[in-house]
Amino acid sequence: MTGVTAGVTAFAPLHVTGRIRQLATRLGELDVTAGAITDLINIRWLTGFNGSNAVLLVSTTDAKALLITDDRYAEQAPAEIATSGCENTEVAIQRDPTDTDWITDSTRLALEDSITWGEQRRWATAFADSELICLEATVEELRAVKTEAELERIRAAAAIADAALSAVHPKIRPGITEKEIANALDDEMRTQGATGPAYDTIVAGGPNAALPHAHPSDRPFEQGDLVVIDVGAVVDGYRSDMTRTFSLGTPGEQAQKMLDATFDSQAQGVAAVSAGVKARDVDLTCRQALEDVGMGEAFSHSTGHGVGLNIHELPRLTHRSDDILDTANVVTVEPGVYYPGFGGVRIEDLVVVNDAGCEVLTHFHKDPLIPL
Ligand code: ZN
Ligand code: ZN
Repeated sequence: MTGVTAGVTAFAPLHVTGRIRQLATRLGELDVTAGAITDLINIRWLTGFNGSNAVLLVSTTDAKALLITDDRYAEQAPAEIATSGCENTEVAIQRDPTDTDWITDSTRLALEDSITWGEQRRWATAFADSELICLEATVEELRAVKTEAELERIRAAAAIADAALSAVHPKIRPGITEKEIANALDDEMRTQGATGPAYDTIVAGGPNAALPHAHPSDRPFEQGDLVVIDVGAVVDGYRSDMTRTFSLGTPGEQAQKMLDATFDSQAQGVAAVSAGVKARDVDLTCRQALEDVGMGEAFSHSTGHGVGLNIHELPRLTHRSDDILDTANVVTVEPGVYYPGFGGVRIEDLVVVNDAGCEVLTHFHKDPLIPL
């Protein structure tokens, strides 16, 4: 153990109890007799099993499940299922998950949207008499509402990214490269107790900041650069997500206008978040604020996304989204403006939705000025 781990090792158990039953109810609503869950993140959320190969069969009628994995996990799978409180689930060690009499040929079987072409063919052949239907985002919808134990991990991941950015912030000076800052952030997050970065850390200065998903380069920062830093951590599988933008020296007129507009848009977006609100309306709020100052066209992506075991999950905060924000959703609010050849600004907070609005989890300050 090294460094400050801020309670990272002392989490309450995740308690997945009840999730198999929850899914079985949803499967019943889809009028299927069983579902085959193939997405490993969904399997982890449902059972607590965290391995690289598994299929989870869930029976609708009796809310029982069978976790099929290979012999590498013969000990780990039953142990993780027991620890997480997953009930009514047995483990089978076998190579071919479709070679099972656990579900019968007369089954109407649901497969996940993310299944590969090859796997789908295998199920179709093995269950030639069955009707196969698409489960779509059923498990992902259940995952969007976080438990207190999940929030605890996401909070810790956000606190670690805050601490990493605090430690690295003094190094953001002309002459240091994007890669050097990105590596320093990743190292610092691990030192603080994270498993690693939640996604490829973005550090983008000057013209590179005009690319929303820029990869850190060997370009050294220069005086007058806008620097976009998008950083998050993973703690016990759960992720955080935060973006700040800095100005190396007093911003010029255009940069200041971009900073002011984005801060304003982002603050209005966060203020619009509340349980029962249409996710689309939060996107519209951010978009309208930028349109009002003539920067609507420079906002080239959507406003935000859910965060949990995956960095991008439900609900979606886009102008097309039909999602309604729910209590204990964890979402980002991250408008940005990007001008090719000049630079960009993005401000992103991670928030937990509640009845009164939301709780902001990312606390690093938003003062863009780095005096030179
Ligand atoms: Zn981000
Ligand atoms: Zn994000």
